[in-house]
Amino acid sequence: MTNNLFVYNTLTRKKERFEPINPPFVGLYACGPTVYGDAHLGHARQAITFDVLYRYLQHLDYKVRYVRNITDVGHLVDDSDDGEDKILKKARLESLEPMEVVQHYMNRYHQNMESLNVLPPSIEPRASGHIIEQQELIRKIMEAGYAYEVNGSVYFDVIAYNNNHPYGQLSGRKIEDLLSNTRTLDGQSEKKNGLDFALWKKAGPSHIMRWPSKWSEGYPGWHLECSAMSTKYLGMQFDIHGGGMDLLFPHHECEIAQNVAGYGQPSVRYWMHNNMITINGQKMGRSLGNFITLDQLFEGNHKILEQAYGPMVIRFFILQAHYRSTLDFSNEAMQASEKGLMRLMNSIAKLKSIQPSNSSSIDVDALAERCKKAMEDDMNTAKLVGHLLGGITQINNLAEGRETISEKELEKLINLYHSWVFSVLGLELPSASEKANEITGNLIEIILQLRSDAKLSRNFKTADRIRNELTKLGITVKDRKDGADWEIN
Ligand code: ZN
Repeated sequence: MTNNLFVYNTLTRKKERFEPINPPFVGLYACGPTVYGDAHLGHARQAITFDVLYRYLQHLDYKVRYVRNITDVGHLVDDSDDGEDKILKKARLESLEPMEVVQHYMNRYHQNMESLNVLPPSIEPRASGHIIEQQELIRKIMEAGYAYEVNGSVYFDVIAYNNNHPYGQLSGRKIEDLLSNTRTLDGQSEKKNGLDFALWKKAGPSHIMRWPSKWSEGYPGWHLECSAMSTKYLGMQFDIHGGGMDLLFPHHECEIAQNVAGYGQPSVRYWMHNNMITINGQKMGRSLGNFITLDQLFEGNHKILEQAYGPMVIRFFILQAHYRSTLDFSNEAMQASEKGLMRLMNSIAKLKSIQPSNSSSIDVDALAERCKKAMEDDMNTAKLVGHLLGGITQINNLAEGRETISEKELEKLINLYHSWVFSVLGLELPSASEKANEITGNLIEIILQLRSDAKLSRNFKTADRIRNELTKLGITVKDRKDGADWEIN
């Protein structure tokens, strides 16, 4: 099998020719969500990036095993080793069983992914279902002398590891700098060094998610699950490990250290990381008030949003940037994407109406070659989309009889658009129900605007009537200083 695919390897900081370890099989692992809250644009970008890679590798005739995990234990608040478990915290706040929290947000995540037309992975392992594998890896790391036990918890010994294997290669960090940037440990800490990270934590009395082990009743450290589960399903060495750039350090750096310490070798051949999404130029954060969930986007229900955006518009917006570039969300950018997607889909529909002639005045092969080259260059979906949009002029000329195309060439052109747009980029025509949802969201926004106009002109009778009518329809309206939030019950 030959291809000219080059991918940017975060580890070597170079574009490298993609050569699978065991062709035609490709092992692909991407870190999945920690399921304690609704998915947002950051989740969408990561999932869509590796969904397109998964689809593209299959398009190149590889047999891909795609593993994307679910983190349902061990990911602590602030990514620290001393904070509360994110899922336990949510469970405590909502008086739920931790596994109810997990199930609830996992279901919602799956719904969101389905809306975005993200294919389900081949295997979706959960951290809590692989405690034994994780304990086994801890045992191996301890045997190799790179971990130590204190009071029933086990920590990875970064200094001992770094004496034999360089730590920090993936993120380009030097141990000296890391050491000087790590706050000195107070007398309370069990760690030998601030850089050390937990492999196993002894559970406190109120910690519900706990499993027996030879060290203590406790739970695994967050980084451990990906080492244990990728090895279990993809083997000691596999082709591609993906994730968002926010996972590069410490999560992926620690993963490499765990694999080398426990199994004697690094497992990943190509590390690929997608860049982050900013909102109107700002980092996304709950405290900044710009934290938009996917459901809010689909419904247009957030004060930043001027309208609802369908899942395909979001997908198209994400694919219009190269996955390693930053991407800034704004209403203007989304509206431009919406127009672009509509133009693309309308042209694909037009292809059916074109009448073939005996000769061709357009060069389909040249367009096909440009598209292929764009994707071979580190999966440059931005360029690919540009070429596909560029071809629209020709499609219009063909539809209006200004250019001609033979039957064979027309078939090629139709295949080209179908395979890139639908199979690889995973775009689809919006379904009637999606369209209806989007319209509903936008209608509610219009009605609420009319209500706030009524309030401004002190017409409170109308304002109350609108609110009551919406309530009857099952739409709850919550007033804020500068407008209103709404929710469909
Ligand atoms: Zn991971």
